[in-house]
Amino acid sequence: MKPKKLLGLEYWVKHWYRHGLWFDHYSQLLQKTAALSPQGLQVFQNQRLQQLVREAYRDIPYYRDLFSNLKLKPEAIQSAADLKKLPYLTKALVVANFDKLVSRKRRNFLCKVAKTSGTTGSPAQFVRSFEAINFENAAAWRQWRLKDKPGTRRITLRGEVVVPMRQSEPPFWRFNPTNQELLMCGFHLNDQTAEAYLRQILDFQPQILSAYPSNAYALARYFQRHKISYQLKAVFTSSEVLSPQVRQFIEETFQTRVYDWYGQAERVAAIAHCAKGTYHIQEDYSLVELMPKGPNFEIAGTHLFNAVMPLIRYRTGDVAKVNPEQTCDCGSHFRTVESIDGRDCDFIVTPEGYHISAANHIFHGVAHVLEGQLYQEDMTCLIIKVVAGSGFTEEDRNRLIRNARENTSEKMRILVEEVDHIPRSSNGKFQSIVNRLSDLNADEVGTESIALALG
Ligand SMILES: [Zn+2]
Repeated sequence: MKPKKLLGLEYWVKHWYRHGLWFDHYSQLLQKTAALSPQGLQVFQNQRLQQLVREAYRDIPYYRDLFSNLKLKPEAIQSAADLKKLPYLTKALVVANFDKLVSRKRRNFLCKVAKTSGTTGSPAQFVRSFEAINFENAAAWRQWRLKDKPGTRRITLRGEVVVPMRQSEPPFWRFNPTNQELLMCGFHLNDQTAEAYLRQILDFQPQILSAYPSNAYALARYFQRHKISYQLKAVFTSSEVLSPQVRQFIEETFQTRVYDWYGQAERVAAIAHCAKGTYHIQEDYSLVELMPKGPNFEIAGTHLFNAVMPLIRYRTGDVAKVNPEQTCDCGSHFRTVESIDGRDCDFIVTPEGYHISAANHIFHGVAHVLEGQLYQEDMTCLIIKVVAGSGFTEEDRNRLIRNARENTSEKMRILVEEVDHIPRSSNGKFQSIVNRLSDLNADEVGTESIALALG
Protein backbone atom coordinates (compact mmCIF):
# COMPACT_ATOMS: atom_id res chain seq x y z
CA MET A 1 0.00 0.00 0.00
CA LYS A 2 1.55 3.29 -1.05
CA PRO A 3 1.14 5.85 1.69
CA LYS A 4 -0.69 8.97 0.77
CA LYS A 5 1.59 11.95 0.45
CA LEU A 6 1.04 14.87 2.72
CA LEU A 7 -0.45 17.88 1.13
CA GLY A 8 2.74 19.65 0.26
CA LEU A 9 2.82 23.20 1.50
CA GLU A 10 2.20 22.61 5.17
CA TYR A 11 5.05 20.14 5.41
CA TRP A 12 7.47 22.19 3.43
CA VAL A 13 6.74 25.05 5.81
CA LYS A 14 7.30 22.72 8.74
CA HIS A 15 10.49 21.49 7.16
CA TRP A 16 11.70 25.04 6.67
CA TYR A 17 10.93 25.84 10.31
CA ARG A 18 13.22 23.03 11.36
CA HIS A 19 15.89 23.14 8.69
CA GLY A 20 15.70 26.84 7.92
CA LEU A 21 18.33 29.55 7.59
CA TRP A 22 19.99 28.82 10.91
CA PHE A 23 20.02 25.03 10.86
CA ASP A 24 23.39 24.52 9.17
CA HIS A 25 24.97 27.29 11.21
CA TYR A 26 23.88 25.69 14.49
CA SER A 27 24.66 22.16 13.33
CA GLN A 28 28.23 23.20 12.67
CA LEU A 29 28.45 25.15 15.91
CA LEU A 30 27.18 22.17 17.92
CA GLN A 31 29.75 19.87 16.31
CA LYS A 32 32.47 22.28 17.45
CA THR A 33 31.15 22.81 20.97
CA ALA A 34 30.78 19.05 21.51
CA ALA A 35 34.54 18.76 20.98
CA LEU A 36 35.55 21.62 23.32
CA SER A 37 37.65 20.98 26.40
CA PRO A 38 35.89 21.62 29.74
CA GLN A 39 37.62 25.03 29.91
CA GLY A 40 36.64 25.88 26.32
CA LEU A 41 33.08 24.89 27.06
CA GLN A 42 32.99 27.18 30.06
CA VAL A 43 34.20 30.12 27.98
CA PHE A 44 31.50 29.39 25.39
CA GLN A 45 28.78 29.12 28.05
CA ASN A 46 29.84 32.35 29.72
CA GLN A 47 29.87 34.30 26.46
CA ARG A 48 26.38 33.08 25.56
CA LEU A 49 25.11 33.79 29.07
CA GLN A 50 26.51 37.32 29.14
CA GLN A 51 24.87 38.05 25.79
CA LEU A 52 21.56 36.56 26.94
CA VAL A 53 21.53 38.61 30.15
CA ARG A 54 22.45 41.84 28.33
CA GLU A 55 19.61 41.32 25.86
CA ALA A 56 17.13 40.25 28.53
CA TYR A 57 17.90 43.38 30.54
CA ARG A 58 17.55 45.57 27.48
CA ASP A 59 14.45 44.02 25.91
CA ILE A 60 12.43 42.15 28.55
CA PRO A 61 10.45 44.18 31.12
CA TYR A 62 10.33 41.29 33.60
CA TYR A 63 14.12 41.09 33.81
CA ARG A 64 14.58 44.87 33.83
CA ASP A 65 12.30 45.05 36.89
CA LEU A 66 13.95 42.03 38.49
CA PHE A 67 17.46 43.45 38.11
CA SER A 68 16.43 46.86 39.38
CA ASN A 69 14.68 45.33 42.42
CA LEU A 70 17.84 43.38 43.17
CA LYS A 71 19.98 46.46 42.45
CA LEU A 72 21.96 44.52 39.89
CA LYS A 73 23.31 45.42 36.47
CA PRO A 74 23.67 42.80 33.73
CA GLU A 75 27.46 42.92 34.22
CA ALA A 76 26.91 41.20 37.58
CA ILE A 77 26.22 37.95 35.70
CA GLN A 78 29.43 36.82 34.07
CA SER A 79 29.29 33.07 34.59
CA ALA A 80 27.00 30.21 35.55
CA ALA A 81 28.11 30.64 39.18
CA ASP A 82 26.77 34.22 39.16
CA LEU A 83 23.28 32.97 38.31
CA LYS A 84 22.83 32.32 42.03
CA LYS A 85 22.34 36.08 42.41
CA LEU A 86 19.00 35.68 40.63
CA PRO A 87 15.92 33.85 41.92
CA TYR A 88 14.46 30.79 40.23
CA LEU A 89 11.72 31.22 37.67
CA THR A 90 8.71 28.90 37.86
CA LYS A 91 5.80 27.98 35.63
CA ALA A 92 3.45 29.95 37.90
CA LEU A 93 5.63 33.07 37.47
CA VAL A 94 5.63 32.59 33.69
CA VAL A 95 1.84 32.32 33.64
CA ALA A 96 1.49 35.44 35.81
CA ASN A 97 4.08 37.51 33.90
CA PHE A 98 3.76 36.20 30.35
CA ASP A 99 3.44 39.60 28.65
CA LYS A 100 6.40 41.01 30.56
CA LEU A 101 8.59 38.03 29.63
CA VAL A 102 8.31 38.36 25.87
CA SER A 103 10.42 40.76 23.85
CA ARG A 104 8.13 43.01 21.81
CA LYS A 105 11.01 43.94 19.60
CA ARG A 106 11.85 40.35 18.69
CA ARG A 107 8.41 38.81 18.53
CA ASN A 108 7.32 38.52 14.92
CA PHE A 109 5.13 36.40 12.64
CA LEU A 110 7.78 33.69 12.43
CA CYS A 111 7.66 32.99 16.17
CA LYS A 112 5.73 29.97 17.43
CA VAL A 113 3.99 29.48 20.74
CA ALA A 114 4.20 26.19 22.67
CA LYS A 115 1.83 25.35 25.47
CA THR A 116 2.51 22.97 28.30
CA SER A 117 -0.06 20.30 28.99
CA GLY A 118 -0.08 20.30 32.76
CA THR A 119 -2.78 18.26 34.41
CA THR A 120 -3.40 21.03 36.90
CA GLY A 121 -3.57 24.80 36.78
CA SER A 122 -3.38 27.04 33.76
CA PRO A 123 -1.24 25.95 30.84
CA ALA A 124 1.86 28.05 30.43
CA GLN A 125 2.86 29.44 27.05
CA PHE A 126 6.35 29.77 25.67
CA VAL A 127 7.28 31.79 22.61
CA ARG A 128 10.06 30.43 20.41
CA SER A 129 11.85 32.34 17.72
CA PHE A 130 12.41 30.90 14.27
CA GLU A 131 16.12 30.80 15.08
CA ALA A 132 15.49 28.89 18.33
CA ILE A 133 13.39 26.28 16.47
CA ASN A 134 16.21 25.77 13.97
CA PHE A 135 18.63 25.45 16.88
CA GLU A 136 16.46 22.86 18.62
CA ASN A 137 16.35 20.75 15.49
CA ALA A 138 20.11 21.03 15.02
CA ALA A 139 20.57 19.81 18.60
CA ALA A 140 18.22 16.86 17.99
CA TRP A 141 20.04 15.99 14.79
CA ARG A 142 23.33 15.86 16.64
CA GLN A 143 21.93 12.86 18.51
CA TRP A 144 20.13 11.35 15.51
CA ARG A 145 23.37 11.44 13.51
CA LEU A 146 24.66 8.71 15.78
CA LYS A 147 22.65 6.30 13.62
CA ASP A 148 20.65 8.33 11.15
CA LYS A 149 21.29 10.60 8.22
CA PRO A 150 18.90 12.73 6.18
CA GLY A 151 17.10 10.58 3.65
CA THR A 152 17.06 7.39 5.74
CA ARG A 153 13.57 5.90 5.90
CA ARG A 154 12.03 6.72 9.26
CA ILE A 155 8.70 6.15 10.95
CA THR A 156 7.52 8.75 13.40
CA LEU A 157 4.90 7.54 15.85
CA ARG A 158 4.02 10.20 18.36
CA GLY A 159 1.09 12.12 19.77
CA GLU A 160 0.46 13.98 16.58
CA VAL A 161 -2.95 13.84 15.00
CA VAL A 162 -1.89 12.72 11.53
CA VAL A 163 -5.35 11.78 10.27
CA PRO A 164 -8.70 12.92 11.68
CA MET A 165 -9.61 11.29 14.98
CA ARG A 166 -13.01 10.23 13.62
CA GLN A 167 -11.36 8.16 10.87
CA SER A 168 -11.83 4.46 11.54
CA GLU A 169 -10.26 2.87 8.47
CA PRO A 170 -6.62 2.94 7.39
CA PRO A 171 -4.50 4.67 6.29
CA PHE A 172 -3.67 6.18 9.67
CA TRP A 173 -0.44 7.58 8.26
CA ARG A 174 0.93 9.99 5.75
CA PHE A 175 4.19 10.14 3.88
CA ASN A 176 6.28 13.24 4.42
CA PRO A 177 8.53 13.54 1.37
CA THR A 178 10.68 16.27 2.91
CA ASN A 179 12.28 13.74 5.23
CA GLN A 180 11.52 10.25 3.82
CA GLU A 181 9.32 9.96 6.86
CA LEU A 182 6.24 7.86 7.38
CA LEU A 183 4.26 9.85 9.88
CA MET A 184 2.01 7.41 11.73
CA CYS A 185 -0.76 8.45 14.07
CA GLY A 186 -0.16 7.25 17.64
CA PHE A 187 -3.81 7.75 18.56
CA HIS A 188 -5.19 5.17 16.16
CA LEU A 189 -2.88 2.29 17.03
CA ASN A 190 -4.90 -0.37 18.86
CA ASP A 191 -5.80 -4.08 18.69
CA GLN A 192 -8.15 -3.53 15.74
CA THR A 193 -5.75 -1.44 13.65
CA ALA A 194 -2.42 -3.04 14.59
CA GLU A 195 -2.32 -5.42 11.65
CA ALA A 196 -2.73 -2.61 9.14
CA TYR A 197 0.08 -0.68 10.86
CA LEU A 198 2.40 -3.70 10.75
CA ARG A 199 1.66 -4.37 7.09
CA GLN A 200 2.40 -0.76 6.21
CA ILE A 201 5.64 -0.77 8.18
CA LEU A 202 6.85 -3.98 6.52
CA ASP A 203 6.02 -2.48 3.17
CA PHE A 204 7.82 0.78 3.95
CA GLN A 205 10.93 -0.96 5.39
CA PRO A 206 12.04 1.79 7.77
CA GLN A 207 15.43 1.83 9.44
CA ILE A 208 14.65 4.34 12.15
CA LEU A 209 11.75 4.65 14.56
CA SER A 210 11.18 7.94 16.31
CA ALA A 211 8.45 7.71 18.94
CA TYR A 212 7.15 8.40 22.40
CA PRO A 213 8.30 5.48 24.59
CA SER A 214 4.69 4.37 25.14
CA ASN A 215 4.02 4.31 21.39
CA ALA A 216 7.24 2.44 20.60
CA TYR A 217 6.38 -0.03 23.36
CA ALA A 218 2.86 -0.55 22.01
CA LEU A 219 4.22 -1.12 18.52
CA ALA A 220 6.86 -3.55 19.80
CA ARG A 221 4.14 -5.46 21.63
CA TYR A 222 2.19 -5.88 18.37
CA PHE A 223 5.30 -7.10 16.57
CA GLN A 224 5.78 -9.67 19.33
CA ARG A 225 2.14 -10.67 19.40
CA HIS A 226 2.08 -11.20 15.64
CA LYS A 227 5.42 -13.02 15.86
CA ILE A 228 7.05 -10.73 13.31
CA SER A 229 10.76 -10.23 13.56
CA TYR A 230 12.03 -6.86 12.33
CA GLN A 231 15.36 -5.20 12.90
CA LEU A 232 15.71 -1.45 13.04
CA LYS A 233 18.93 0.53 12.96
CA ALA A 234 17.89 2.63 15.94
CA VAL A 235 14.92 3.79 17.98
CA PHE A 236 14.85 7.40 19.16
CA THR A 237 12.47 8.18 21.99
CA SER A 238 11.54 11.43 23.71
CA SER A 239 8.83 13.32 25.60
CA GLU A 240 7.96 10.71 28.24
CA VAL A 241 9.90 8.89 30.93
CA LEU A 242 11.63 5.86 29.44
CA SER A 243 11.65 3.12 32.06
CA PRO A 244 14.37 0.43 31.97
CA GLN A 245 11.76 -2.27 31.34
CA VAL A 246 10.21 -0.46 28.39
CA ARG A 247 13.66 0.28 26.98
CA GLN A 248 14.69 -3.37 27.22
CA PHE A 249 11.47 -4.61 25.62
CA ILE A 250 11.79 -2.25 22.65
CA GLU A 251 15.49 -3.08 22.22
CA GLU A 252 14.85 -6.82 22.27
CA THR A 253 11.96 -6.59 19.85
CA PHE A 254 13.70 -4.44 17.27
CA GLN A 255 17.19 -5.88 17.92
CA THR A 256 18.69 -2.44 18.31
CA ARG A 257 19.35 0.29 20.81
CA VAL A 258 16.99 2.94 22.13
CA TYR A 259 18.42 6.46 22.30
CA ASP A 260 16.37 8.70 24.52
CA TRP A 261 16.15 12.48 24.59
CA TYR A 262 14.85 14.41 27.55
CA GLY A 263 13.58 17.88 26.81
CA GLN A 264 10.57 20.01 27.66
CA ALA A 265 8.37 22.70 26.10
CA GLU A 266 10.38 25.34 27.94
CA ARG A 267 13.59 24.21 26.20
CA VAL A 268 15.75 24.99 29.23
CA ALA A 269 17.51 21.63 29.40
CA ALA A 270 18.27 18.74 27.12
CA ILE A 271 19.68 15.43 28.29
CA ALA A 272 20.43 12.86 25.64
CA HIS A 273 21.78 9.35 25.35
CA CYS A 274 25.19 9.18 23.71
CA ALA A 275 26.41 6.34 21.49
CA LYS A 276 27.16 4.33 24.64
CA GLY A 277 23.64 4.76 25.96
CA THR A 278 24.56 7.16 28.77
CA TYR A 279 22.52 10.27 29.47
CA HIS A 280 24.61 13.43 29.06
CA ILE A 281 23.45 16.95 29.88
CA GLN A 282 23.76 18.91 26.63
CA GLU A 283 25.94 21.63 28.15
CA ASP A 284 26.08 23.74 24.99
CA TYR A 285 22.28 23.82 24.68
CA SER A 286 21.58 25.52 28.00
CA LEU A 287 22.99 25.99 31.48
CA VAL A 288 21.60 23.21 33.64
CA GLU A 289 21.46 23.33 37.43
CA LEU A 290 20.71 20.20 39.41
CA MET A 291 18.90 21.23 42.58
CA PRO A 292 19.03 18.68 45.41
CA LYS A 293 15.58 17.25 46.12
CA GLY A 294 15.69 14.39 48.59
CA PRO A 295 18.18 11.87 47.20
CA ASN A 296 17.56 13.15 43.66
CA PHE A 297 17.84 16.42 41.79
CA GLU A 298 15.32 18.74 40.20
CA ILE A 299 16.39 20.01 36.79
CA ALA A 300 16.52 23.79 36.36
CA GLY A 301 17.95 25.52 33.34
CA THR A 302 18.72 28.69 31.44
CA HIS A 303 18.18 28.54 27.72
CA LEU A 304 20.97 30.22 25.76
CA PHE A 305 19.38 30.52 22.32
CA ASN A 306 15.91 32.06 22.56
CA ALA A 307 16.17 35.81 22.98
CA VAL A 308 12.44 36.37 22.31
CA MET A 309 11.52 34.84 25.66
CA PRO A 310 14.59 34.13 27.77
CA LEU A 311 14.03 31.80 30.68
CA ILE A 312 16.70 32.23 33.32
CA ARG A 313 16.98 29.64 36.11
CA TYR A 314 13.68 28.03 35.19
CA ARG A 315 12.61 25.13 37.43
CA THR A 316 11.22 22.32 35.32
CA GLY A 317 9.77 20.25 38.16
CA ASP A 318 11.41 17.21 36.53
CA VAL A 319 13.63 14.96 38.58
CA ALA A 320 16.90 13.25 37.67
CA LYS A 321 18.97 10.66 39.46
CA VAL A 322 22.69 11.37 39.47
CA ASN A 323 25.47 8.99 40.32
CA PRO A 324 28.69 10.90 41.06
CA GLU A 325 30.70 7.74 40.37
CA GLN A 326 29.25 7.34 36.87
CA THR A 327 31.63 7.80 33.98
CA CYS A 328 31.24 7.31 30.25
CA ASP A 329 33.98 6.49 27.80
CA CYS A 330 32.24 7.99 24.76
CA GLY A 331 34.65 10.94 24.90
CA SER A 332 32.10 13.61 25.86
CA HIS A 333 32.94 16.12 28.59
CA PHE A 334 29.27 16.73 29.30
CA ARG A 335 28.02 15.74 32.78
CA THR A 336 26.22 12.43 33.03
CA VAL A 337 22.84 11.65 34.58
CA GLU A 338 21.88 8.13 35.59
CA SER A 339 18.18 8.42 34.81
CA ILE A 340 15.30 10.84 34.42
CA ASP A 341 12.88 9.56 37.00
CA GLY A 342 9.96 11.87 37.04
CA ARG A 343 8.52 14.62 35.02
CA ASP A 344 6.42 17.55 36.06
CA CYS A 345 3.39 16.21 37.96
CA ASP A 346 4.70 12.65 37.63
CA PHE A 347 4.65 11.76 41.26
CA ILE A 348 2.45 10.26 43.89
CA VAL A 349 2.17 11.82 47.30
CA THR A 350 1.87 9.42 50.23
CA PRO A 351 -0.17 10.13 53.36
CA GLU A 352 3.17 10.89 55.05
CA GLY A 353 3.91 13.55 52.42
CA TYR A 354 6.62 11.66 50.53
CA HIS A 355 6.84 12.20 46.80
CA ILE A 356 7.18 9.00 44.84
CA SER A 357 8.39 9.24 41.29
CA ALA A 358 9.40 6.46 38.90
CA ALA A 359 6.43 4.49 40.13
CA ASN A 360 6.20 2.45 36.95
CA HIS A 361 7.90 -0.29 38.91
CA ILE A 362 4.56 -1.02 40.52
CA PHE A 363 3.70 -2.84 37.29
CA HIS A 364 6.91 -4.80 37.19
CA GLY A 365 6.38 -8.55 37.09
CA VAL A 366 2.61 -8.23 36.74
CA ALA A 367 1.53 -10.15 33.68
CA HIS A 368 -1.52 -9.37 31.56
CA VAL A 369 -1.50 -5.61 32.03
CA LEU A 370 -1.57 -3.93 28.63
CA GLU A 371 -1.46 -0.41 30.00
CA GLY A 372 -1.39 0.96 33.49
CA GLN A 373 -1.73 4.37 35.02
CA LEU A 374 -1.45 5.54 38.61
CA TYR A 375 -4.12 8.04 39.43
CA GLN A 376 -4.36 10.13 42.56
CA GLU A 377 -6.78 12.79 43.71
CA ASP A 378 -6.63 12.16 47.41
CA MET A 379 -3.49 11.84 49.53
CA THR A 380 -4.70 8.67 51.21
CA CYS A 381 -5.75 6.77 48.13
CA LEU A 382 -4.06 5.56 44.96
CA ILE A 383 -6.07 4.26 42.04
CA ILE A 384 -4.31 1.91 39.64
CA LYS A 385 -6.07 2.02 36.30
CA VAL A 386 -5.35 -0.97 34.13
CA VAL A 387 -6.25 -2.05 30.65
CA ALA A 388 -6.23 -5.76 31.37
CA GLY A 389 -5.26 -8.32 28.77
CA SER A 390 -6.90 -11.71 28.57
CA GLY A 391 -5.73 -13.81 31.47
CA PHE A 392 -5.66 -10.96 34.01
CA THR A 393 -6.48 -12.69 37.27
CA GLU A 394 -7.21 -11.95 40.88
CA GLU A 395 -3.59 -12.90 41.59
CA ASP A 396 -2.37 -10.15 39.21
CA ARG A 397 -4.69 -7.68 40.90
CA ASN A 398 -3.39 -8.64 44.34
CA ARG A 399 0.19 -8.42 43.20
CA LEU A 400 -0.42 -4.89 41.92
CA ILE A 401 -1.88 -3.92 45.27
CA ARG A 402 1.06 -5.51 47.11
CA ASN A 403 3.63 -3.81 44.85
CA ALA A 404 1.90 -0.48 45.20
CA ARG A 405 1.69 -0.69 48.96
CA GLU A 406 5.32 -1.76 49.29
CA ASN A 407 6.45 1.06 47.08
CA THR A 408 4.30 3.86 48.44
CA SER A 409 3.03 3.54 51.99
CA GLU A 410 1.38 1.03 54.29
CA LYS A 411 -1.18 3.72 55.04
CA MET A 412 -2.15 4.15 51.39
CA ARG A 413 -5.51 2.76 50.28
CA ILE A 414 -4.98 1.06 46.91
CA LEU A 415 -7.75 0.46 44.40
CA VAL A 416 -7.39 -1.36 41.09
CA GLU A 417 -9.79 -0.18 38.42
CA GLU A 418 -10.10 -2.01 35.11
CA VAL A 419 -10.74 0.33 32.20
CA ASP A 420 -11.10 -0.16 28.43
CA HIS A 421 -8.79 2.64 27.49
CA ILE A 422 -6.48 5.14 29.15
CA PRO A 423 -6.95 8.56 27.62
CA ARG A 424 -3.88 10.45 26.41
CA SER A 425 -3.22 14.04 27.39
CA SER A 426 -4.22 16.79 24.96
CA ASN A 427 -0.90 16.44 23.13
CA GLY A 428 -1.17 12.69 22.86
CA LYS A 429 1.25 11.78 25.62
CA PHE A 430 0.68 8.74 27.72
CA GLN A 431 0.91 9.73 31.37
CA SER A 432 2.02 6.97 33.68
CA ILE A 433 1.03 9.04 36.69
CA VAL A 434 -1.81 11.50 36.87
CA ASN A 435 -1.76 13.57 40.00
CA ARG A 436 -4.87 15.61 40.65
CA LEU A 437 -4.01 16.89 44.07
CA SER A 438 -4.67 20.21 42.41
CA ASP A 439 -4.95 22.37 45.48
CA LEU A 440 -1.67 21.20 46.85
CA ASN A 441 1.52 22.67 45.58
CA ALA A 442 4.26 20.10 45.20
CA ASP A 443 6.54 22.01 47.51
CA GLU A 444 3.98 22.41 50.24
CA VAL A 445 3.03 18.77 50.47
CA GLY A 446 6.39 17.61 51.68
CA THR A 447 10.00 18.13 50.89
CA GLU A 448 11.25 14.61 50.93
CA SER A 449 11.28 12.81 47.64
CA ILE A 450 11.97 9.15 47.19
CA ALA A 451 12.51 7.30 43.99
CA LEU A 452 11.59 3.68 44.06
CA ALA A 453 14.28 1.11 43.82
CA LEU A 454 14.42 -0.26 40.34
CA GLY A 455 12.20 -3.27 40.17
ZN1 LIG B 1 28.73 9.01 26.81
